Amino acid sequence: MKHVVVVGGGTGGTLLANLLASKLRGEIDSGKIGVTLVSDNPHHVFQPANLEIAFHGAQPQKYIRKQNTLLSRRVQFLSEGVEKINIADRHLITSSGNELDYDYLVIATGSVADPSLTPGLAEASVNFHTSPWDAAKVWQALSTFERGKVVLVIAGVPHKCPPAPTEAMFLLDEYFRKRGTRDRVELTFLTPYPHAYPAKTIADIVQPMLEERGVNIIPFFSIDQVDAAGKKVVSLEGEEVPYDLLIAVPPHRGARVAVVSEIGDKDGWIPADKHYMTVNGYDDVYAIGDATNIPISKSGVVAHLQAGIVAHNIASSITGADGKQKYNGRINCPLEVGGGKALFVSGTYTRPPKHMQPTRMRYLMKKSFASLYWLMLKGSLEPIFNIYFREKEENGS
Ligand SMILES: Cc1cc2nc3c(=O)[nH]c(=O)nc-3n(C[C@H](O)[C@H](O)[C@H](O)COP(=O)(O)OP(=O)(O)OC[C@H]3O[C@@H](n4cnc5c(N)ncnc54)[C@H](O)[C@@H]3O)c2cc1C
Repeated sequence: MKHVVVVGGGTGGTLLANLLASKLRGEIDSGKIGVTLVSDNPHHVFQPANLEIAFHGAQPQKYIRKQNTLLSRRVQFLSEGVEKINIADRHLITSSGNELDYDYLVIATGSVADPSLTPGLAEASVNFHTSPWDAAKVWQALSTFERGKVVLVIAGVPHKCPPAPTEAMFLLDEYFRKRGTRDRVELTFLTPYPHAYPAKTIADIVQPMLEERGVNIIPFFSIDQVDAAGKKVVSLEGEEVPYDLLIAVPPHRGARVAVVSEIGDKDGWIPADKHYMTVNGYDDVYAIGDATNIPISKSGVVAHLQAGIVAHNIASSITGADGKQKYNGRINCPLEVGGGKALFVSGTYTRPPKHMQPTRMRYLMKKSFASLYWLMLKGSLEPIFNIYFREKEENGS
């Protein structure tokens, strides 16, 4: 029996395991292939909803499901962490000491937002990246905030979901306007990028909108530390920005297992081929989604598309069916601008994001993608997504 092991039951790992179960159903039923998903979290969190929780007061429980309810019956689920991957010997060791051999391995361990990487940040700030419960603390902090300076700082790149901090500035503005206290609140956005969004074409749209709404944007701001006692964010250049409420996008790193197993770089990002997602030097080990060092946004849509390609390539390598597919760097991330409007940051490795105006229709598309998330993980919506992304290729968008 050949064994495919997937490590990490987030967006990429869950979808990939389910797609393999579907593509290899005959081989699995006849005992030729086994597919195992090992994940350290018995629950699955829909992370984009952290913005809903932080800025609209949604309840975290609404966006969390049990991992085993999301998996095909053809996938064996091991609910434990992987401590070490011995890539040269094709086997891994779990937290309970289980040893698993594999013929194909997919590492989908995501990224970790870690406020402790910046001195002072953990004790001084709230954030909507580390968990839905931490996102709920942002909502609590806003609910009791009457007047003063709210500062949002991007404390490291890369981070999950490039649009999230810019989106948060729009949602903060909207929140205080709706409460009728916007004139008592100063909003400041500290970003290491030259503009309010990393891609200039998108910044050209959103920066004037933020400025019009009275948001101060301080570009090229590289955080050094937070002076929690003095309530100041301090940059590497020594610039000090005072705050009353500090919201952070914490620095991110790859999973610990990638460092311990000497697969990742010093920050834990796994070097992988940008088209095939094979880990450098290996043709039977893949890394997908946030876990890689591939120069592409750390987003669910990337994990989704890479999962589809790797599932296809592993299945065709096993069955000897049609050839390899290639990931072209497609991204398609929504950016909500308040007032029930959104735009999409959409492009590929060779086509940078185009100018796109926020519209009501795009906002409704963002909402409908979110409502389809749990079905998407099962793999049953792939034909619809294939049509959607094929159309984008044909339109050159
Ligand atoms: C506020 C916010 C808003 C976002 N908005 C969007 C959006 O609008 N659109 C979009 O496309 N993306 C969005 N994202 C990003 C998206 O959620 C992530 O990029 C996506 O979940 C990455 O998928 P992944 O499979 O690579 O990692 P994850 O989904 O994070 O999954 C990694 C899994 O691996 C497990 N794991 C880690 N280490 C081990 C180990 N040693 N052993 C076993 N298991 C392990 C983890 O517990 C986790 O279950 C957003 C994220 C945030 C925080």
